[in-house]
Amino acid sequence: MPRPDARSPSDGGVRAPLRVTSSANPNVALLKSLHAKKGRAETGWFLAEGARLALEAADQDAWPVLVAIAESALDRAHIKTFADDAAAHGARVLITTEKVLGQVARRDNPQTVIAAYRQRWAGLEALAAGAFAVALYEPRDPGNLGTILRACDAAGASGVALIGQACDPFSVECVRATMGSIFTTPVARTTFEELDAWRRARGFTMLAASLRATQRHDQAPLGERTLILMGNEQAGLPEEVEEACDALVRIPMRGRADSLNLAMAATLMVYEVWRRRGYDGA
Ligand code: SAM
Repeated sequence: MPRPDARSPSDGGVRAPLRVTSSANPNVALLKSLHAKKGRAETGWFLAEGARLALEAADQDAWPVLVAIAESALDRAHIKTFADDAAAHGARVLITTEKVLGQVARRDNPQTVIAAYRQRWAGLEALAAGAFAVALYEPRDPGNLGTILRACDAAGASGVALIGQACDPFSVECVRATMGSIFTTPVARTTFEELDAWRRARGFTMLAASLRATQRHDQAPLGERTLILMGNEQAGLPEEVEEACDALVRIPMRGRADSLNLAMAATLMVYEVWRRRGYDGA
């Protein structure tokens, strides 16, 4: 695999777009490698698909390091402007065919823009920017994680902490599910011990959503700042973790289902905490 070279040309100028028609091209191979954890770990990059996402990311001043664009899409003025701006921000721009894009995306009818970005991890401190944040204990499903990042973005949670062996927020599946929120919602990695010490020092009440709880989620004390803790899809939360929390809460259920999907439960929790804060900022 070629080494990623996201730097601008040494003369400081803008690199001209490359016309690429073969998926054997090393830049295309680099994009394709980002489907695998190994490729993402070696480059520190991740793949995001779609012009809408790329334009929204640009609005946040997040620019790709490498981007493949369908030649046919350059007729649209906003895509042409994006290609020029990305190049001006140091991106290597590939002008390519739908066939090559399909191979990069591993699907028929691929998006006309597929871009690689640098992975950005936040520190726990980023979660103290607002009144509530979310922590996920060893989440395994990237679709769930992406959906939770999207809900946190929508409700204005300040970020998400991933505890222990969590799935990769920069996987293609997770990024797809975030619908762009990967660029706006800080994600930190931590251990439970580190998180617990941090949240105590920063004055967060830790509220765990648990099927063992008796208190309803809309009746729990939120404190001045709330950290919402969610369990793993299969195993929930370990007992010692629940014991360290200020309160355990249960989202009411009355049918035969024994639990809600993790992303659904997290969304209900985040929206309940926001509702109790009067939908501040909506
Ligand atoms: N068998 C697991 C258990 O016993 O916890 C089920 C895990 S559930 C699919 C994943 C997570 O979603 C749970 O750990 C909890 O945080 C949250 N959750 C799901 N349904 C919930 C409910 N009705 N009330 C509170 N939390 C819930």
